[in-house]
Amino acid sequence: MRRKAALHNLGCKVNAYETESMRQMLEQAGYEIVPFEEQADVYVINTCSVTNIADRKSRQMIHRAKKRNPDSVVVAAGCYVQTSEEQARADEAIDLLIGNNKKHELAELLEHFWEEEKRGRYEKESSVEDIAQNQEYEELKVTGTGEHTRAFIKIQDGCNQFCSYCIIPYARGRVRSRKPEDVLWEVRTLAQNGYREIVLTGIHLSSYGVDFKPQEQSQEKDVNLLSLIRQVHEVEGIDRIRFGSLEPKIITEEFVKGLSELPKICPHFHLSLQSGCDDTLKRMNRKYTCEEYRAGCNLIRRYFSHPAITTDVIVGFPGETPEEFEVTRKFLKEIRFFEIHIFKYSMRKGTPAAQRKDQIPEEIKSARSDVLFEDLAEMNQEYLNWYREKEIEILMEEIVSFGEKKYFLGHTKEYVKAAILLPEGEEPDWENKLLKGRVVSLLKEHILLAERC
Ligand code: SF4
Repeated sequence: MRRKAALHNLGCKVNAYETESMRQMLEQAGYEIVPFEEQADVYVINTCSVTNIADRKSRQMIHRAKKRNPDSVVVAAGCYVQTSEEQARADEAIDLLIGNNKKHELAELLEHFWEEEKRGRYEKESSVEDIAQNQEYEELKVTGTGEHTRAFIKIQDGCNQFCSYCIIPYARGRVRSRKPEDVLWEVRTLAQNGYREIVLTGIHLSSYGVDFKPQEQSQEKDVNLLSLIRQVHEVEGIDRIRFGSLEPKIITEEFVKGLSELPKICPHFHLSLQSGCDDTLKRMNRKYTCEEYRAGCNLIRRYFSHPAITTDVIVGFPGETPEEFEVTRKFLKEIRFFEIHIFKYSMRKGTPAAQRKDQIPEEIKSARSDVLFEDLAEMNQEYLNWYREKEIEILMEEIVSFGEKKYFLGHTKEYVKAAILLPEGEEPDWENKLLKGRVVSLLKEHILLAERC
């Protein structure tokens, strides 16, 4: 009888990639994959630990699994296990602990667990190491992803930045980059399986290649993010290349000019800012100034027409005065972002910022966050209005309904949602197709409405 396995992912795109790879590992090992809500013999929860709330949600999903089937084997994997190993070890709902860099052992560890069980022995299994000491990139593979049009692939792990509010370097260890040949194998495989858009992701993508030793560098040139993107660009069948969050420091003339020479590059730059005030950036231990950030955005706008520049901002970071907040607000308005992910600072146990005495009250954080959402609404509309009467290319994803009408929805290269109205009663097979359209208006707030051309 095939054993049933169910997986649940928490957190970032890197986690989602790893969960997909673990799902494929279990399928290859003969398990039947069932939805997480169903009864299963094995439950795998790929946990997140970016905030205290993420820790709590990870524990909730673990306990929900054990409650769903008390006889099941519950596997807790990833960042929560890495940062709270003792607590996870003491948690009776967990049967198997897998730390970061050990997910490739999942099927083997489970096999050993079943062997022991057959012998009437039960022992909590654990494979967790001191991630800070690990130099080796954990090679995992996917041949497809949960989505049908774009595939997120992991090319890098770990972070050496130690921003004062962030626990990730303690959960993910030091920077480790994936070999270019392994990345290219995966991109080719995904292209053969019909994926047209690739999203390169990592924990600190901008550090890709910094850990390669001289002998791992190829004769003629350094292996870094740009050189890797150039190689991915040559893969047939891939029409669009996107990348995850970038650090301002990587935005150099050479990097941006190099990207602008590659037609498949999607001009969507998620440049993580966090604050628009240099004093706040210093307390966050961020490694750039607002002037450098501004210069990077100007560079991108020099080489790309109407690029989408998006970012992350933390409001209410310890010590943020009303004056500092106004400096941030002014800076955001000056840069004119398409999208801003606005986060209220949340204290993360185990980080330097959590020790600070000058914490900001929740109500002030909320007030500042509300102000930025208002500013963002205006910037967002301004960015979208630019498209009126313009020709766009949409990678089609799915049919959606608004009221009585049906539309085919997808994304432009700038990652703007766009839709084409479908003729009454027709459902053309446009999924994963690249279609051209002329923007006639906005459909809902954030969706461009286009007519085919
Ligand atoms: S760059 Fe900073 S915020 Fe990002 S993962 Fe590294 S330490 Fe965390």
